[in-house]
Amino acid sequence: MHNHAADHAHDHADHENVLDRAERLCRERDLQFTRLRRDVLETVAGEARPMGAYDIAERLSGGGKRVAAVSVYRALDFLTEHGLVHRIASRNAFVSCGHSHGERDGLLFLICRSCGGIDELTSPAIESQLDQAVTEAGFTPTSRIIEVEGECGACREREGLAGQ
Ligand SMILES: [Zn+2]
Ligand SMILES: [Zn+2]
Repeated sequence: MHNHAADHAHDHADHENVLDRAERLCRERDLQFTRLRRDVLETVAGEARPMGAYDIAERLSGGGKRVAAVSVYRALDFLTEHGLVHRIASRNAFVSCGHSHGERDGLLFLICRSCGGIDELTSPAIESQLDQAVTEAGFTPTSRIIEVEGECGACREREGLAGQ
């Protein structure tokens, strides 16, 4: 299976495993990296597609253990707040952040409608244009996340080959 998130992460020489990053960040900020937070992050990071809170709860439940979706939501809030996962609003689902970028950076998500894969980009050019437009409108953004739906390169290529 083609993993967009991992491919993209490999572009960054300073790539750090998201779990390692979470541990470091929690240590630096004196935060609790609880077992549940770790489990939730590990589950999201293991998927190339965005995952919903209920799917995560389901995945973590079993063997007599029952993880409530509300606990997963709380863990996701924490992870989102610290930039370890991002919420994809159009899917009401979450992806782990494959690379480190500034906490206030604008983000661009490319969501493939064929395979459900997701790629995360930062674009300073789009960000500054967007900032200018919002500022002119007298608006103060709390986050800048742009979601773009379409077809990824791998899917296009596959379809192109199939059509030959
Ligand atoms: Zn990110
Ligand atoms: Zn695709």
